Amino acid sequence: MNSSPQATAQQAFERLLGAATLLINTTPALSEFAAVPDDLHYSPATPIAKPVINSLQHAMPRASHRTQPLIDALHAVIPYAQWRTTYTAAQVGTRFVNTYGYIELYGPSGHYVSQQSRAFIGYWGADLFYPPHRHEAEEVYFVAAGSAAFAIDDQPAQMRRVEEVQIHTAFKSHSMQTGADNGVLCLVLWRGPGLADNATLNDG
Ligand code: ZN
Repeated sequence: MNSSPQATAQQAFERLLGAATLLINTTPALSEFAAVPDDLHYSPATPIAKPVINSLQHAMPRASHRTQPLIDALHAVIPYAQWRTTYTAAQVGTRFVNTYGYIELYGPSGHYVSQQSRAFIGYWGADLFYPPHRHEAEEVYFVAAGSAAFAIDDQPAQMRRVEEVQIHTAFKSHSMQTGADNGVLCLVLWRGPGLADNATLNDG
């Protein structure tokens, strides 16, 4: 057995990829949106820590029987992952950047590289407002733990709970509000043109 740090990291990511694959394959709203790519290859990466790790470890909201394996596998990759925050404190505030973050499980710059589609796992802590933003790629959010209210343009927000989905079409402005008492953890898939881009704030 090879127990080098790199091998341990890869084993943790294999478990996470397996849990995400199972969820996607057994959730038609996800598998019909974007199948798990068949060109994935693992790309060893230097870990990047972010303050959100503390929230993940101490304030994870409730999951379901189906989604708990993803949460458990995510906990195992925390020290090996490249945690990202697209935005700066100047854009969204210090509390937002300190209690939000995501990893790119697969995609153009993911832990597994693919040009076919993209999968993020993101966490937003309690009582956060993710201001209106947009991107060209089409997107589906799948709530794996907790809940949040999602709004498209100026339409009334829709509460999405564990195992529910929210779809955003190309360039459509959307925002999100977490509850006063719980954050949300989502598996997010992207497809189509603009796959390698970042989201941008409308007022960024
Ligand atoms: Zn989006």
